[in-house]
Formats: sequence, C-alpha cells, structure tokens
Amino acid sequence: MKVLILGCGFAGLEVAKTLRKRSKELEICAIDRRTRFEYLAALPEILSGKVTPDDISVDLNKFATSINAEYINAEVVDIDFIAKTVKISTSEISYDYLVLAVGAEQTFFGIPGAEEYSYSVNTMEGALRTREALDKLDSIEESSVAVIGAGLTGVEVAGELLDYFKKRAAAARIYLVEMMPMVLPAFSHRNLANSVRNSLSGRGVEIATETAVQEVGADAILFTDGEKIPYDIIIWTAGIRPNSLVQKLALPKTKGWLHVDSNLRVPGQKGTFAVGDTIYFERDGARSGQNVEEAERQGKVAAGNLIRAIKGEKLKRYRPKNTVQNPRAFISLGENKAVIYFAGKVITVCAYKLKKYVEHRYMRGLQ
Ligand SMILES: Cc1cc2nc3c(=O)[nH]c(=O)nc-3n(C[C@H](O)[C@H](O)[C@H](O)COP(=O)(O)OP(=O)(O)OC[C@H]3O[C@@H](n4cnc5c(N)ncnc54)[C@H](O)[C@@H]3O)c2cc1C
Repeated sequence: MKVLILGCGFAGLEVAKTLRKRSKELEICAIDRRTRFEYLAALPEILSGKVTPDDISVDLNKFATSINAEYINAEVVDIDFIAKTVKISTSEISYDYLVLAVGAEQTFFGIPGAEEYSYSVNTMEGALRTREALDKLDSIEESSVAVIGAGLTGVEVAGELLDYFKKRAAAARIYLVEMMPMVLPAFSHRNLANSVRNSLSGRGVEIATETAVQEVGADAILFTDGEKIPYDIIIWTAGIRPNSLVQKLALPKTKGWLHVDSNLRVPGQKGTFAVGDTIYFERDGARSGQNVEEAERQGKVAAGNLIRAIKGEKLKRYRPKNTVQNPRAFISLGENKAVIYFAGKVITVCAYKLKKYVEHRYMRGLQ
C-alpha cells in the first residue's frame, strides 16, 4: 500500500512520522519542491543572525531515509484523482492514499508594485535575500526599512531588525505598518496589542495602524490616505492565500481553502486526506487556526485515520484547539524578549526561553 504525501512542511512531516510509527510495512513517499524542511517560525531570526540556515532546516532526503521513506524533490503540478496519479514536471507517480499538505502562499493582495519591490521572510531563500539587502544598507547614513503587516511575523521581524541594526554601523528608521486598528489584529486582545506595541515603539519602531498601502513605487510607498514615505527596503509580512496547486484542483473549497470532513478527508475523493495551512476546517463554531500547532495535530490525526481506513476501522474526529476564535502563540520581540499568548493571558516570564526550547526540541526530533 503506497501513501503519497504532497508537501514536507510541519503537517506533511507529522503525517510521515506518525505513519511510520504506526506501520513498518507501509510504502511512504513524500514530495516537496524544497530540498530542506524549514522551521518557518524562526525565519525572522535569520535577519538578526540569531539562527543560521543549518540551525533551522533539515535535509529532506536524510529525514526520509531516517524513517525508511522515499523523498522526491519536485514541484507537484497536477493530480488525477481517478487514475490516482500525481503529476510532477518529469513524470507521474501513482498512489493508493494521498495526503495534501502543501501549505499556503504569500499574497500581495494585487497591490501595484508590492510583489515587485518587496522582500520577504516567508521562506529561507527569501529571508537570506532580505538579510543580504539589509547588509547593503551600511553605506547609507540613515536608511528606512518598512515592515508591512503587523501580524505575528511582522512584529517578530520588527524586533529582529532592532537587534540587527544595533550591531551595524549605520542607523535605520524602522516602520511597522498595519491596516487594522491594532497590531496583532488576529488576536483581538487589547492588552496583548498594547504590550507588544509598547515594547517595539519603546525601542524605536515607528508603528502606524489603520494605514493601508495603496501602491509601492521604486523608492516610495503610497498609502490610501495620500501620505507617501520613502524607503530603502520593504519587508512584506501581510497575508497568505491558498496554495496555487490547490486553487486549480476541482475540489470543494471556501475562498480557495480546501474543505475536509471531520476526519480530515477530502469530500468526494476516496483515500485523500488534507492537512495544515491548506485546509479550511470549522467545527462547532471553532475554526482551526493556520499555525504550527494545528498543522502537527492534523498531521497526527490524518495519519492515524489513514491507517484506520486501511484496516477498515472507525475513523477519529479532529478537534482544533488553537483556533481563529481562541488563538495562542509564542511571539518574539527581539532582545531575547517574547510573549506567550495563551487562554486570553499575556505571559512574559521565560517566554523567549520556552519558544527556543520548543524550536530546539522540534529540530532535534528531525535529526
Ligand atoms: C515567517 C513565518 C513565521 C511563522 N511563525 C509562526 C509562529 O510563530 N507560530 C505558528 O504557529 N505558526 C507560524 N507560522 C505559520 C506556520 O509556519 C504554518 O502554519 C505552518 O508552516 C503550516 O504547515 P504546513 O505543513 O501546512 O505548510 P508549510 O510548512 O508551509 O509546508 C508546505 C510545504 O509544501 C511544499 N509545497 C507547496 N506547494 C508545493 C508544490 N506544488 N509541489 C511541491 N511542494 C510544494 C512547500 O515547499 C512546503 O515545504 C509562520 C509562518 C511564516 C511564513
């Protein structure tokens, strides 16, 4: 019996690990366009140099070998659910069971110039390119770096930029721009927003909320209120959209996010599961968040259900915990500071240490 896993991020790797734990015989094959797993939550720290690429990434070939699975480095371009084959650039691969774990993609909301002129930290490649661009600012006496989007990634990037410029000869103005009325809008928690805002602005980040980008030019950003600011670097941290492979598949979706049933199966496609950022899942009024915790939880549940399906057993239902309605997260802010947001509480004690402990433990588990 062959299981094909598309995407080797947090969700895909959890599926692979759980399948192997539960079955020695299953043939497991995983495909990813990247050659290394990337611990995305630590990418902002690539900017300040607190972590190196080797610290937060793992060779997928080595990982696959360690669990007796096959890994193929390729872009998946299509799926034929009737023939049960997946198309990659050079060939087609057949499967008995399929797990879609291709994640999400960055979006620029169609804002003119945004994609063309922005740097990002959404991938290791993007973060390294951004770091290189920052290094070139040394020749400018006072540069301007604008971070667009004050969600989780945006505030973390602003914190890492503070640490980065502390070690450089040249100074910089760091702007953090958010369209919504508060930073970390997805958390809708005034105390959390104020505490993060005060921490960053107290160290010099210039924060503008209720400020939306209208257009990005070669050297200035135009906002919808008519204000224009010059910039040297823009780091885009606003928004994700559904994966483009999933977008083109004729499957049930909400705004492009893939539907799954309560067992994480794709409706209408026997033997197909989906997990991670790519899915839309809502149960009893709670919508699963798109975060590492749920990607891993879904990976475990889907893998368990896949084995149950093979054995003809009753499947288990998935219940999200880190939800859109009740989110929780570690949020680092530079200077080895962080906050934990959990059960509506803002915790600062040992928050950064705990965040790094979780990261190290995860990475060690993949070696
Ligand atoms: C910079 C950044 C910081 C973040 N910080 C946090 C945080 O602090 N806490 C938190 O909980 N979450 C955080 N997140 C979100 C978290 O990383 C995601 O929720 C999580 O990665 C989702 O896991 P996934 O496996 O669904 O997708 P991913 O981890 O994105 O994995 C998807 C994989 O699929 C591969 N893929 C996609 N399309 C194809 C294709 N067509 N062919 C082949 N391969 C393909 C990709 O290369 C990738 O390896 C952050 C995200 C980013 C980008």
